[in-house]
Parts: sequence; C-alpha cells; structure tokens
Amino acid sequence: MNVMKHYINGEWVGNGKSRKNINPSDTSDIVGVYADGDSELAEQAIAAARQAASGWAGSTPQQRFDILDFIGSEILARKAELGRLLSREEGKTLPEGMGEVGRAGQIFKFYAGEALRLAGEKIPSVRPGVDVQITREPLGVVGVITPWNFPIAIPAWKIAPALAYGNAVVFKPAELAPGCAWALAEILSRSGLPAGVFNMVMGGGESVGQKLVNHKDVDGISFTGSIEVGRKIAVQCVQRRAKVQLEMGGKNPLVVLDDADLKTAVNAAVNGAYFSTGQRCTASSRLIVTDGIHDRFVNAVIERLKGLKVDDALKEGTEMGPVVDDAQLQKNLAYLEVGAEEGATLAYGGERLKRGTEGFYMAPALFTGTHNDMRINREEIFGPIAGIIRVKDYETALVVANDTEFGLSAGICTSALKYASHFQRHSQAGMVMVNLPTAGVDYHVPFGGRKGSSYGTREQGSYAAEFYTTVKTTYIAP
Ligand code: NAD
Repeated sequence: MNVMKHYINGEWVGNGKSRKNINPSDTSDIVGVYADGDSELAEQAIAAARQAASGWAGSTPQQRFDILDFIGSEILARKAELGRLLSREEGKTLPEGMGEVGRAGQIFKFYAGEALRLAGEKIPSVRPGVDVQITREPLGVVGVITPWNFPIAIPAWKIAPALAYGNAVVFKPAELAPGCAWALAEILSRSGLPAGVFNMVMGGGESVGQKLVNHKDVDGISFTGSIEVGRKIAVQCVQRRAKVQLEMGGKNPLVVLDDADLKTAVNAAVNGAYFSTGQRCTASSRLIVTDGIHDRFVNAVIERLKGLKVDDALKEGTEMGPVVDDAQLQKNLAYLEVGAEEGATLAYGGERLKRGTEGFYMAPALFTGTHNDMRINREEIFGPIAGIIRVKDYETALVVANDTEFGLSAGICTSALKYASHFQRHSQAGMVMVNLPTAGVDYHVPFGGRKGSSYGTREQGSYAAEFYTTVKTTYIAP
C-alpha cells in the first residue's frame, strides 16, 4: 500500500515511518497507511508557515473567499465518497459520516463569506481632532490539534477560520483517524493557497503535538481533545504567552420532566446518548428524570434500545456503529464494572456483540438507580453508556444537572415554557437544548462550553474571529 505523506511547504513529504489506519467495523480492512511524523518534521512545517504567514496576512478578501469557497464546494461534491471514508475509519454510520462531511463543506463556505465580511470600527475620540480606528489582524501561525471523533468537521472548523482571518496553519490530526485529514489536506493542496500557508504533519501528540505547543513561532494553539491533555497544553501555552483555545470533554445532562412529550424525550435521549456510538463530547450521558415520568421513560428507552441496530458502520440500516478501537472498548467495559460496583443497575445492554466481521461492537448500555456522585456520572466515558438519575422535581434536576466539573451542553425536555426558560437562564453549560438532543449543532453559530469543558474564546460562527485575530487600536491626528 502507498504511504500517504505529510504536506509541508506545498510538497508531499515522507519520513520512512508509518501507521496503519484500521477499520473498527472490520479489523481485517486496512483503510490506508499514513506517514507517522516527528518533532523534526513539525519544526520544518512551522518554519514554512512562519515564512508564508506575512504574505497570506496581506492577501485580499477576494483571494481568501475564492480559495475557501473552492474547498467547500469540493468537499460538498465528494460528500458520499468522503463520508464513506469517514465511516470506514472512525466507525460512525454512513449517514452520520456523510452528514459530518456536509457540515465540513458548509463550514468552509461560511468562512469564505466571513473573509469578505471582516470589518473594523471607526470611533470618535474623546480628544478633539483625533480619530480612533479598531482593526483586527491575523494572529500569525496557528497550530491546530484535533481528536479522532469528528475527523473532518473539527479540522474544518479550526482551519477554515484560521485561513479566512489571514493565518498560516500547521495541522496535526489525531493518530486514529488520519484518512479524512489527509483527504482534506489534498483538497487544500489544489485550492490555490500559496506554499507554506497550510501544512499538515501526522503523528503522535508527544512528538508533533508537543512541538507545536512549545514552539516560539507558533502564535496560537487551537486544541480539541481530552481534559487531561488540554490542561497540560494550557499551562505550556500560558507559560510562553501563546494564545490558546481548548475544547474538551463533557458529562452532559438531559433533564426529562413529568410534563415532557414522551416520544420527544426518548428520541432526544437515544440520539444524544447513543448515536455516533456515544463518542461525542456533547453526548447525553446523564439522564435526569423526575418521578412522575421515570418508569414510562425508562421502559420506552429500553424498548427503543432493543430495536437499535448495531452493526458495520457502512451497512445500510445500521443505527450504531462500533467503538473506535480496542482501548476505548476496554475502557467502556471497565466502566460497566465500575457502575455495578457502585450499586447501579445495568438495566439494558453493555455486552460485547459479534457481527459478520471482527470489530469493536458492544450493545448500548443503560444504568438505572444511579446517583450523581457515582464515578459513572462524574467521569467522561466517551462510549454508548448512559445513567438514569431519578429526582423528585425540576428544582432538584437543575441542581444535579449543574453539579459537574463539565459544562459543554445541557438539555431539557418539557412542555412548560417556565421550566424551559428558567433552565436556559440557570444552566451552567455553554449550549442549552430545549426538547432536542444535547448533541447536534449548527455550523454558523458559536460552539463551546464552560467550566472544565472549554477554555478560551468560542469556536465557530463569527465568534471564531476572537481567537484567530488580534485587535489593534489606532489613534490618528492630522
Ligand atoms: P486526546 O486528548 O487523546 O487527543 C487529542 C489530540 O491531541 C490528538 O491529536 C493527540 O495526538 C493530541 N495530543 C495528545 N497528547 C498531546 C500532547 N501532550 N501535546 C499535544 N498534543 C497532544 O483526545 P482524543 O482521544 O483524540 O479525543 C477524545 C476527547 O476529545 C474526549 O475527551 C472528547 O470529549 C474530546 N472532544 C471534545 C470536543 C469539544 O468540542 N469539546 C469535541 C470532540 C471531542
């Protein structure tokens, strides 16, 4: 098999080391072989980006629009093919994979428009005869470090605004899902970007990732991944005064009140907790349910789970694909034991499943009789496992929902406006969903959380400019 190479300074570069990309639905299927870079290659990419940064900072909005629009159009035109690649390497179902690719294309289109809309302000000074202008300038060189669970959308929502606002980029994708990253880099390589403006180095976090985080010529790091790695990166960036933006884990609550429409609540819970195999930072892992609807809700969720089709991600009709790899599968199974030891009841699922091919399949798992202080309700599992927390009323549900170190997304199912709007105001999450799953967001509005889930300014929408630009205030006297 051909080794897919890194992209540095407008050229495809190999380094003699590589990694196999394995299909989690069928471990005998090798998706591709991808170069495995090191800190030396990262250094070369950073040097190329530094060299190219000032030229790109001076590019016109029209140039940026044309390039980003080209990239978005090609991604959208190849949605079926790239969606298939995504599902094959990551394990989410084909409709989910194609949906994610579509979103990546839309994001590039959105930021093509943003490149044209970037504006400053002209403000009268408090002093006579003086003008004040507030303008935004690119940050310079941005390091983009991404996880495996959204292998094209997350790179898109970091790389597109970085380029739209005039930055040069060094991109390090996740080791587990380099296929979509490589396909994206290949499209960018034909988009008309000057050499060095965009670079991609595949490889490990401790080698390539750490070089980006600690290099003096990288002006900002945009990271999505686990809380442990995020915490370390934050300290390192602050120490050398680099700008940093982190999106990390979640333990997202979905509150279901007595007055909720049962069907809506069950759909929100099953979609939020189990779709994409629960491997979403916005997954609903804590289902907080009031007394009056508890039994009906639990029974209806279990009935739905019994019919949920777990199989090969590419098979028609599959609703939940495999877990991404064996390490994550073992972690999920270990958490099922933790839950049992803590006294939770495994009301449904959790067992390993056998399918036509060798893959990392497990049944979606539902715990009942859980408390919010159990580890299964405090730690991010990142798998198809949810716990029911039974509460007496809305007020208790709100306290439990907010009692977590995370704060990414929070949902409520209710037909009462008073509870919906109270929850909107008092939830300590960055995103609130009413009668909707906690996962699943638009591409043109801000995305991000509070507390342990996020650090720094918001991603996506026009709010992304806060990270990818720096503000200059100019005073002018004639
Ligand atoms: P991870 O933290 O292990 O890795 C993320 C990226 O960081 C990878 O590219 C990895 O190689 C790199 N990395 C690892 N160690 C590094 C280091 N020391 N220095 C620099 N880079 C390093 O996370 P993962 O397992 O790939 O992804 C799962 C996690 O991502 C979950 O915790 C999930 O909640 C989180 N996530 C968050 C969001 C969000 O927007 N909040 C979205 C998706 C995923």
